This record gives sequence, C-alpha cells and structure tokens, in this order.
Amino acid sequence: MAGLKQGDGKRVVVIGGGIIGCLTALYLHRLGASPVILEKGKTGRESSWAGAGILCPIHPWLYPDSFTHLIDDSLARYPDLNDMLLELTGMDIEWRNNGLLIPFFSDDCIHHRDQALAWSERFGWPVEELDSTQTCEHEPSISASVNGALLWPEVGQVRNPRLLAAVRKALEICNVAVQEQTEVVALEKHADGAICGVRLAGGKSIAADAILLAAGSWSGELAQQIGLILPVEPVKGQIVLLKDTPGMVNHIIKHDDAYLVPRIDGHILVGASMERAGFQRGTSDDVVSRLLESTWRMMPGLKGADIAQQWMGFRPGTPDGMPYLGPVDEHPGLWVATGHYRNGVALAPGTAELMSRWIMGKPPQLDMFDFRINRPLQTSSAVGFPGSL
Ligand SMILES: Cc1cc2nc3c(=O)[nH]c(=O)nc-3n(C[C@H](O)[C@H](O)[C@H](O)COP(=O)(O)OP(=O)(O)OC[C@H]3O[C@@H](n4cnc5c(N)ncnc54)[C@H](O)[C@@H]3O)c2cc1C
Repeated sequence: MAGLKQGDGKRVVVIGGGIIGCLTALYLHRLGASPVILEKGKTGRESSWAGAGILCPIHPWLYPDSFTHLIDDSLARYPDLNDMLLELTGMDIEWRNNGLLIPFFSDDCIHHRDQALAWSERFGWPVEELDSTQTCEHEPSISASVNGALLWPEVGQVRNPRLLAAVRKALEICNVAVQEQTEVVALEKHADGAICGVRLAGGKSIAADAILLAAGSWSGELAQQIGLILPVEPVKGQIVLLKDTPGMVNHIIKHDDAYLVPRIDGHILVGASMERAGFQRGTSDDVVSRLLESTWRMMPGLKGADIAQQWMGFRPGTPDGMPYLGPVDEHPGLWVATGHYRNGVALAPGTAELMSRWIMGKPPQLDMFDFRINRPLQTSSAVGFPGSL
C-alpha cells in the first residue's frame, strides 16, 4: 500500500473536498496532522459551491436544542475564520451581518411566530417585531400588502464560491495535499473491523491512521459498503441569480416559498427548491418560474431584474435534518462528518474545529449525543426530507 508522504503528523485521509472536508483538513493541519483530501471531481464544486451562504438555519426553532448549541458554537467562529482567510490568502469571503427578515402579508400570518420569538429569547438571538411601516422602511421594495415582519439584525451570510476559493487557497499555502479527480471506491478494513485505508478508482490503495468520511450526499453509498447505515440522501436545490442595482434588497428575506440573499454587488440569489429526486442534475423551467413568482409576490420591484444565472446542488439530507458527527464505534479509525443538509456552511467552522480536535484525541465539549452515527432512524417532517416530487 502506498502510504501518505505528507509529514510526520497523524496521517488522515479526508474523503470529499466540500466545505466540510476542506476546512476540517485545514484545521487538522493546524493541529499538526498530515491530512490529504481525496476529491472525485474538483474541490468545492458541489453543494458547498451551490448553497446560498445564509448563516442561520431556515427555522432553527424546529430543531432540538443541541442543534442550536452546535450552530451557536459554529457561528461564533466565523469572525476568526474570516480574519484567518483574509490574512492568509488576501481573499474576501463577503462575510457580513445584514440581518434576516421574515415578512408576513395580509393573506397569511408568519408561521411559528410565537415559537420563533420564544426560541430567540431563550438562546439570546436579538429579534425585533416590525409593523408594516417599519418593514417598508427597512425594505423599500417590498410589497405594499406587507403586514409586518420579524427581523433578526445579526444574522449573517457569506458568498459560497469565495469562501471555497479562499479555503482552497489556504490549503495550497499550507501545503495540505489535495488530490482532485480521485474517487474513493471503498474503505479498507482489518479483520477486526478497524478501518486502515481507502481504495481508489483504478485500484490503488492509500493507508491512513484515520479516515474522515465527508463526502456530502455520496457518503451513504460508501458507508453502505462496510455495512454502515448512514441515511444521507441528496436533496436537490435549485437557485436563480438575479442582477439588479445594489440596495434593491437590504436583508436576507425569507417567506414560505422562497428566500432572497442580496450580495454586495447587486446580485440577488433566489432560493431554493427542495427536491428528493436522486442525483438528477440540471435546472427546470417550472421550478425557476415558481421561485420567480414567489419573489415577485414578495418584492414586485424585482420584476425588472435580469436573470444572471441559475444552478442546482445536492444538499446532503438526513431524515431528522441533523448531521452525523463523530467516530464509528464498530470501525475504529473511521470518522464521519456529513449530512449537514441545509446548514453545512453555517455549521462548517464548528464542525471543522470539533472534528479536527476529536480526531487528534480531544473529545468535544459540546454534547454530541444527538449527532451520533448510530442514532435510531427518526424522521422529522418539519426539518427532515421533503416528500418525493
Ligand atoms: C441550493 C442550496 C442552498 C443551500 N443554502 C445553504 C445556506 O444558505 N446555508 C447553509 O449553511 N447551507 C446551505 N446549503 C447546504 C450546504 O451547502 C451543505 O450542507 C454543505 O455544502 C455540505 O458540505 P459538504 O462538504 O458535506 O458536501 P459537498 O459540498 O457536496 O462536498 C462533498 C464532496 O465530496 C466529494 N465526493 C463524494 N463522493 C466521493 C468519493 N467517493 N471520493 C472522493 N470524493 C467524493 C464530492 O465530489 C464533493 O465535492 C445549501 C445547499 C444547497 C444545494
């Protein structure tokens, strides 16, 4: 078996070069390990590239408390991540706190309003209730039929392609090994079940002290080969990118069928469908039309905006909406960080921090029970898989 020739530290193979794999590898390097990222395509081109970069779950009050603790821990690490990437690479990931606004209109009422307010108070997330006049002052292009809104002024965002490019550059600067176009086809194990390496397409094997499975939507397939049930499935999301003048939309705006994420340069990202349709690539006209119609109902002023681009990505979905994080007890040497579903960018710094330290022998301070690999299969209709299309 060809061993890794990276350095003297613990040899860790990271399967998958999305934000979870790349950032964890960077942090492992910082802790003195010798990680190598194996990526079947190009790094940071799947879900992590495609996402909207909202740094807050869509409806955080629908998750267990442990999830909020994980999110809070991760978001608290964004300022340092931003500074580190800027200093190391000179690249701006466009991390900024422009707030999240959930409007409600005359023909509906904000869902979960009481739950949202109670959750915000309990976890110390500043929130303001706005009447219709205040909502229009905050968002001048919003429909005149708006009744009011909830505003979380400290919710932030990043621009995914820039985040991924900066992390990729940081890996390069730190000489972390990244092998693209390198597909892992099997996990290799000893007779006692311990995982000792991976086999690549083409037959070559790579030995390692630890293997981190961070293959996003594809993680379940690899796990299955060693009899490990990891119910991670692709949940496709389509996005439309509009181009308007900067300032047309000020906050991240979320309503029932769509959300808007305004970038600094006037681009407005409109997302996103939730489709359980396997690994079927491509965008479809009907989904794009639905997203645009929802947008125009919310913000009629955006009718004139040009469509700059449209794309899709596969969220690594889980039945209960929660990631799988930690060691696999039956297979020593194997670690899992996947299933981040709709929240992988928000959860990335926290995941990278805790997984890198854990692999290096320092168990997390947070209670990880709800994220364990062998938890019973539980579905949540609120935050888990959508119905099949
Ligand atoms: C439309 C959309 C909107 C989203 N919006 C948000 C948001 O606003 N906020 C937020 O926090 N999250 C959001 N997400 C979710 C977030 O993007 C994901 O949770 C996150 O990117 C998952 O990262 P990952 O590294 O696990 O997966 P990925 O980015 O998919 O990376 C996995 C990588 O593993 C590689 N791989 C797979 N199998 C193998 C193999 N056998 N060998 C080698 N390599 C392999 C793949 O090629 C891929 O590059 C959104 C996602 C989508 C699609």
